[in-house]
Amino acid sequence: MQVQKVVLNSRPGNDGAPVPDNFRLEVTTLAPDLKDGEVLLRTLYLSVDPYMRCRMNEDTGVDYVTPWQLSECVDGGGVGVVESSLCSACSEGDVVTSFNWPWQTKAVMKGSALQKVDPKIVDGRLSYFLGAVGITGLTALLGVREKGHVTKGANQTMVVSGAAGACGSVAGQIGRLDGCVRVVGICGSDEKCKALVDDLGFTAAINYRGEDVPKRLEECCPDGIDVYFDNVGGAISDAVITQMNVDSHVVLCGQISQYNKDVPYPPPLSDGVKETLRRNNITRERFTVLNYMNKAEAALCELGQLVQSGQINVLETVVNGIENMGEAFCSMMTGGNIGKQIIKISE
Ligand code: NDP
Repeated sequence: MQVQKVVLNSRPGNDGAPVPDNFRLEVTTLAPDLKDGEVLLRTLYLSVDPYMRCRMNEDTGVDYVTPWQLSECVDGGGVGVVESSLCSACSEGDVVTSFNWPWQTKAVMKGSALQKVDPKIVDGRLSYFLGAVGITGLTALLGVREKGHVTKGANQTMVVSGAAGACGSVAGQIGRLDGCVRVVGICGSDEKCKALVDDLGFTAAINYRGEDVPKRLEECCPDGIDVYFDNVGGAISDAVITQMNVDSHVVLCGQISQYNKDVPYPPPLSDGVKETLRRNNITRERFTVLNYMNKAEAALCELGQLVQSGQINVLETVVNGIENMGEAFCSMMTGGNIGKQIIKISE
């Protein structure tokens, strides 16, 4: 059987922005017979995520992900349906996900590497398993809960950077539900700002590309900032940290503004910012969702309920076709997405 796949065509270099040409579409042949324990999958949706940028380098710089190899099939989060199975845990028609789904229209995988999911949890919107009821939702929920120190009744103000993205859009809503009286998002367009306030219940939003971030933070956060969910790092985060209260908390989720630079993770802070953190007793602990997988099942269940009940609204940007994977990845890295960037591979 002939299927389409995406391979890594070239590396952008540790210090460069990725381009769609870093990926190449090929046709490959799947062996006709399954081996014991294997399943044949039809891919429904694939995910592109910022951490993939480090997989494009020869050395990812972190111990929890491996580099993609040149001319080999790229992989990441995926959801699909079992077409046939020689694995006792999977049956034809099951919907399954994996963090290591090959970027292929169909694929043979070991059944033991797949997680079965229940489409009812997401009312049949299966792409949500890659976003709000998947790894980015988990990152938001567990990041806020583990590192944010949000306390009901404490009159807290939360700021979220990368606020209109997959993690940020859920993190702000969790902050509101958990009791922050004010949730302010920072993102890269007026359209995104409008979506944050009108659709997701953020108190206010700041367009960092068009507005004076420090000035707008002062206006939007008159009582200072108690919790900062940081997805971006760099100058935006420096501006936020400067306005944080004594004994406040940074959730160090990601630093996307630095991913096309040859710097370690997390990137070093300036002496001035380090001094602000120290003087104001601000915690800034690195958060890695993969370290909390023992809490994933309960958290995914909670996210499913929050989505079903409408307490969390889900935003997605969906692109069609495996041939557009590279384009979709690069677009997400430069802010082309509102909510989770999804690629629909088949019906
Ligand atoms: P998003 O859906 O947020 O997409 C990335 C967004 O980053 C873009 O939409 C863009 O939005 C913004 N962005 C890109 N470049 C810059 C820049 N230079 N300055 C400011 N914003 C920028 O992706 P995710 O929600 O998947 O990931 C968000 C962050 O969370 C990333 O840093 C990622 O690495 C991290 N993460 C961490 C995990 C963990 O376990 N710690 C797990 C999953 C994700 P805009 O238009 O606003 O610029």
